[in-house]
Amino acid sequence: MIFFDNVKNSVNQPLEVINGYKIFIKREDLLHPIVSGNKFRKLKYIFKEIIIDKIPVAITFGGAFSNHLAATAYLGDELGIKTIGIVRGQEWRDKINESNTLSYCSSKKMDLICLSREAYKKKETSVEVQKILKSISNCRLIPEGGTESLSVKGCTEILRPQDSKFDVICSSVGTGGTIAGLITASCKKQFVLGFNALNSSSALNLVNQYTKKKNWGITNDFTFGGYGKIKPELINFMNNFYKQYKIPIDPVYTGKMLFAIFELIKKNKWRWGKKILVIHTGGLQGVSGMNKYLERKKLPILTY
Ligand SMILES: *Cc1c(COP(=O)(O)O)cnc(C)c1O
Repeated sequence: MIFFDNVKNSVNQPLEVINGYKIFIKREDLLHPIVSGNKFRKLKYIFKEIIIDKIPVAITFGGAFSNHLAATAYLGDELGIKTIGIVRGQEWRDKINESNTLSYCSSKKMDLICLSREAYKKKETSVEVQKILKSISNCRLIPEGGTESLSVKGCTEILRPQDSKFDVICSSVGTGGTIAGLITASCKKQFVLGFNALNSSSALNLVNQYTKKKNWGITNDFTFGGYGKIKPELINFMNNFYKQYKIPIDPVYTGKMLFAIFELIKKNKWRWGKKILVIHTGGLQGVSGMNKYLERKKLPILTY
């Protein structure tokens, strides 16, 4: 199929050598500006199935800055599938324009339905979503973050045979779908290290559903207070990172992971091998939205 099959594989770029540790970064962020990084991988087989099964509508879930919603909206528009986005937080109903992500989704003709946090938690079992599902006869439900077995399969394709030379593979963790794919594709002698972006252990359970392997772990030490939470220290790190390497990273996922990797190595707390491959999972569409928020809070902004 046209969109997914036309995108070239990403490259491993040498990033830095510190204390004898060699860090490479896999530029999955360069796959596509919106369907970037792991969202490309996660949605590939889901949308292929939607096309093969000729399903006219896809419905999914996300927050007002969700990379997953933006990627789904783009793909729906590109592939001629109607999309419906269920948005976390009723308050967004009257201020779609205040979220760059939601305005983008809207411009890609995604129907946005903003639910209270309470209703949103119930996902497809909420009264609101049930109503929509009943009104559409043929519709594909994509879980929050796009995590299901087809997306884990897509994420196994992040690693290539030549990546077996690395001792450790690093990835940011949200739902855990991406790391589940990486673990599945890893070699026995490699360790897959996840950096949780959430103060929750739900990813652990999810990963255990997809793999019996034991060569992995997830650290919760670098969440910066929780999902989407920011500290000036993190912003400074990300701006310096960009200045030095000319690689933009996102504040919710990859920024925190890279902060953690540099911190652990510099403080002599790195225990996972010398050749390190860091997965850049993309997500850069969220940077402008984060800057708006930082400006309102009179905090330093991202300068890229
Ligand atoms: C969605 C996302 C993640 C989290 O992926 P999961 O599969 O939910 O763990 C990590 N990084 C970026 C940039 C993302 O957009």
